[in-house]
Amino acid sequence: MISSVVPAVLGAATLTGAGLAVLRGMRSPSSQLLAPSVSRVPNGYRQIALTFDDGPSEETPALLELLAKYRIRATFFVCGKNVKRLPHIARAIVEAGHELGNHTHGHARLSPRLSWDVNLFSESDMVEEMRRAQTCIHHHTGVWPRYFRAPYGLRWFGLRGAQRKLGVQGVTWSVIGHDWEWDRHRIAEHLIHNTEPGGIVCLHDGRDIRKEVNLSEMLAALEAVLPVWRARGLRVGTVHELMQAGVRRRSSGRSRGSSRRRHGVRRREDAMAGSSSAAR
Ligand SMILES: [Zn+2]
Repeated sequence: MISSVVPAVLGAATLTGAGLAVLRGMRSPSSQLLAPSVSRVPNGYRQIALTFDDGPSEETPALLELLAKYRIRATFFVCGKNVKRLPHIARAIVEAGHELGNHTHGHARLSPRLSWDVNLFSESDMVEEMRRAQTCIHHHTGVWPRYFRAPYGLRWFGLRGAQRKLGVQGVTWSVIGHDWEWDRHRIAEHLIHNTEPGGIVCLHDGRDIRKEVNLSEMLAALEAVLPVWRARGLRVGTVHELMQAGVRRRSSGRSRGSSRRRHGVRRREDAMAGSSSAAR
């Protein structure tokens, strides 16, 4: 009796563990399980990336005005359908020096719901959905995005291959403003307390592919937060600028390390490895 119960319990625990791991891979911004996803990029320049999802919308020009006032560039993860509806605003984003990323064509949820009542996106479905957005963005703005953000941050099996086929890097976030549901004070407080150097901030300049949106709470929060970030010495920019800052940090770290080795300086980790092997 016990011999048949134990494997069943172990099997159930394994399945539960696997299910939880997939759930985490689907939802956790830092998980790499289902697709490579950048949620933050440590760098020595106090650089952060400011990103906006779901645009362009009729309200995007007010955001562009605010960003211009602070001379800040940002990354806009746009939906192809919104670009098609408002191509002049998509072009205005690019002309103002901002970066465009891909947020699918129709704000598609790529992962299944818990009820499993929706069709599952295959890898080729994902490629098609993402390619439609790439093509539409390129057609209207001349930009072929290099970064992709899955709607709701939800990733699923097949996205790894889809990102590879389209040559786009997955990007999530380290802090999200809940600007679709919170008031300006709560959004601002959350961003002020949770933004760290190397972080990626996610806000919205639209609501999936809806036409009428109200960005007043997000805009007021951002207006309050930008001077605080500036006073803290944080440099706000695009995802690409943040990635470049990370690369510069890695290469300067490598050259510092190699020059120290050239001069016979024993690195701290070498010394520690030496002491731990001596204790054995
Ligand atoms: Zn979205």
